[in-house]
Parts: sequence; C-alpha cells; structure tokens
Amino acid sequence: MKISGNIKEVRDIVKEWKQQGLSIGLVPTMGYLHEGHLSLMERAIKENDRVVVSIFVNPMQFGPTEDLASYPRDLDRDAALCEKIGVSMIFHPEPSEMYADDFCSYVDMSGLTEELCGKSRPVHFRGVQTVVSKLFHIVPANRAYFGQKDAQQLAIIRRMVRDLNFDIEIIGCPIIREEDGLAKSSRNTYLNTEERNAALILNKSLTNAKNLIASGERSAKQIKDCIQETIMAEPLAKADYIEVVNFDTIKPLEKLNGNVLVAIAVFIGKTRLIDNFILENVN
Ligand code: AMP
Repeated sequence: MKISGNIKEVRDIVKEWKQQGLSIGLVPTMGYLHEGHLSLMERAIKENDRVVVSIFVNPMQFGPTEDLASYPRDLDRDAALCEKIGVSMIFHPEPSEMYADDFCSYVDMSGLTEELCGKSRPVHFRGVQTVVSKLFHIVPANRAYFGQKDAQQLAIIRRMVRDLNFDIEIIGCPIIREEDGLAKSSRNTYLNTEERNAALILNKSLTNAKNLIASGERSAKQIKDCIQETIMAEPLAKADYIEVVNFDTIKPLEKLNGNVLVAIAVFIGKTRLIDNFILENVN
C-alpha cells in the first residue's frame, strides 16, 4: 500500500490506474480510523478496483476556537488498518501541500449550510466543500464514500456534485455504532468514563423520537420536545441543536413529510457529539 503526501505523485498513480481502465473509489477522512470509517472503505473495496483513503485534518473546516490542535492523529495505526483491509493508497498531505500561503479560492453554498451544524460552525461547510472539491480533483475517482453520521455534510456534498457537475458518484453509508448504541466517532476519545456513559443519551433520545414517530406523531415540535426532555434528564448533556429537516434541502419541517432527517448535536461536558436518523418517504 502506497502512502503519499504529494499531490503530483498521487495524481500520476491515479492517472495510471485510469489508463488501465481500473475503477477508483475515494474515502475522505480525517483519520484516527474506527469501524465507521472502515465500513466506508469495505464498501469502496467491494465496488472498485482501487481505493484511495485520504487522511487529512483539514484546518479550513475548523473554527478558531475548535479542536484542530487536539484532534486525535495516529498515521501508523491508520496505515496498518488500511493495509489490512486492502486499501490501495493513502493520501496524507501536509496542510502546506493543500493550501499555499496565498490560497484564496473557496467552494461554498447557500441554503443547505445555514441550519444544524452551520449555525454553531459558520465556516465549517465552506472548508468541507473546498477540501472535498480539491480531493475530487486530485483523485478523480468513480465513486466517493461518505457516512450518514454526518448527514448534513452528505446532503451538501451531493448537492455540490450535482450543482457543479463533478463526474463522481456519491455513496452514502449507514451509521456504525458501538454495541451500546453510541455512534462511532474519533471525538469519542475525548470522553472520560462518566461522559462516555452520559453520551448514550444521544442515541436514547433519538430512539424515543423514532418510537414517537412510529406511533403516528408527525409534529416536528413534538418530536423535538421529546428529544429535548430525554437529553435534559442527563446532567452532563446540553443540546446544541435538535432539528427536524428535509434531508435533501436541510430546511426545517413543521410536519414530518417526505425524506426526513432528525439531527442533534449535544455537548457532553466540553465534547460536542452529533447523531441522527433519516426516514424516507414519510407521509
Ligand atoms: P471524519 O474522519 O470524521 O471526517 O469522517 C470521515 C467519513 O467517515 C465521513 O464521511 C463520516 O461521515 C464517516 N463516518 C464517521 N463516523 C462514522 C460512523 N460512525 N458510521 C459511518 N460513517 C462514519
């Protein structure tokens, strides 16, 4: 398995593969890989002849007070996991390789980026779209794999690809959870034992909401209240947002209908965790 931080080298290798008629899957990550990432890679390996995993903690998608410096990193461990599973190449650039000192071109979007995580992370999605666009240019893959764990990101990337005519298929993959229901996340490593236990409230509140919807409730307010009440019962938890939106437009819904995304962000102590579920064709 090749590991390269050099854009030209990666481009040349991918070009060679394309000339050989091989199909290519791309899995963009920030590293510190867990089973969530591995599920994307496994699917990519199944569906493509070659798979490139990018590992890049993208400074542009972090706000000034966020966890860029403390974000967990372990390339050796990540590389061993990638090699074992059958990844063809890791692209692991330094920030200076991705962003020249006078870098000033951005990819941005209005509409889908303002709600949910966009409210408390105003520069986040511009950073995500810009880096993903760059990755799509560096690794012109047939398919790119994104987790539903970051549902708003998935919706934004799909829209960006449609609007800007990127020649790549976006594959959304289900959320992988710990046995007790906590969605896998590199940020779970920030939690101490007490907080790790408290973090179960995210999945618990979503399960309560799902049950309420299954019993026939269609009012977004009732769903949000149900989630809020569950979260409030956990002293270490504080909701950042609880939203019910259309999954394709990320516009808030009053009544559940169509493709519905129920998404939450919750602080457990200082750690902000996200989780969600999607229901298709609700009527
Ligand atoms: P990250 O390294 O956190 O930027 O995540 C890289 C990719 O892995 C994104 O497309 C995420 O949505 C996806 N991902 C992260 N956690 C999970 C999970 N628990 N289940 C499925 N996909 C995930």
